[in-house]
Amino acid sequence: MVNIFALDIGGTKIACGIYDENLNLIREWKVPTGKGLSEIEGAVLKSCRRACEEEEIAAVGISAAGNIKPDRRTIAFSTNIPCWIDYPLAEIIEGEFKVPVIVENDANAAGWAEFAHGSGKGSCNMVMVTLGTGMGGALVLNKELYRGSFGMAGEVGHLPMVSSGLPCGCGLFGCAEKYASGTALETLAKQAVRRDPAAGAKLLDMTGGDPEKITGSTVFAAAEAGDKLSMSIFQETGTWLGKTLAAISAVLDPDTYVLGGSAATPSSSLKPETPTLSSSRPLLSGLRRKSNLRNSAATRDL
Ligand SMILES: [Zn+2]
Repeated sequence: MVNIFALDIGGTKIACGIYDENLNLIREWKVPTGKGLSEIEGAVLKSCRRACEEEEIAAVGISAAGNIKPDRRTIAFSTNIPCWIDYPLAEIIEGEFKVPVIVENDANAAGWAEFAHGSGKGSCNMVMVTLGTGMGGALVLNKELYRGSFGMAGEVGHLPMVSSGLPCGCGLFGCAEKYASGTALETLAKQAVRRDPAAGAKLLDMTGGDPEKITGSTVFAAAEAGDKLSMSIFQETGTWLGKTLAAISAVLDPDTYVLGGSAATPSSSLKPETPTLSSSRPLLSGLRRKSNLRNSAATRDL
């Protein structure tokens, strides 16, 4: 039996899963990531030990929030886990467990999973866009994961969409993720409710009258219940998402987009406004073929 142990190391939790040779998930658990280099390393090694005790493990695959060096063994740096600088994660695990280890950036890992096994199956040029707190992305070009020259490709959330726009965590202004993400829904809703409390009555009702308590989930729920303000906020963020995809299409001309992340589940979805997708490219919209637009095959968030 050939089993694979997979870890997804995020800023707050480590999601672990053991998969059999047919990629069926046979065990899963979560542990807190912890703080500081030794605590995080301890949590990772402890989970590897547990996996090896419970099943025979042939290889370990790690997806981590960070910039991974081209050898897919070392984390160059991570904005979510700042203590990782030139951190040889694969070497540390291999040293103790004597199994091959591959480390990949989390968005790239999600994108490759969609291409190889999920909604991107059968495509040639695929762009995955993840919508959650921010907007992430992964590029599969000519059926290969494209990392760029410095491991920074696919950062679609930092496409500059608005000159002198909203400040972004990356240090620039007007990035796409400030206008189309779960956080953008929240920010727009808070602004709108403060501006016009009467129009925001439904959202205020859902948060005990406190606009600060409005989250992306509140806007989802209110829009689904038919709240006009929440629906218009979805339309606005969807328009920005459409513009962002149009900008990506202008450069990469992908055949397929896969939308994933907590703000793009099929039931409560932040979707690109399709008129925007074509109308923002008037010269070519009549001639070009439309890209497929699919939801992620991942049905749940661990
Ligand atoms: Zn940015």
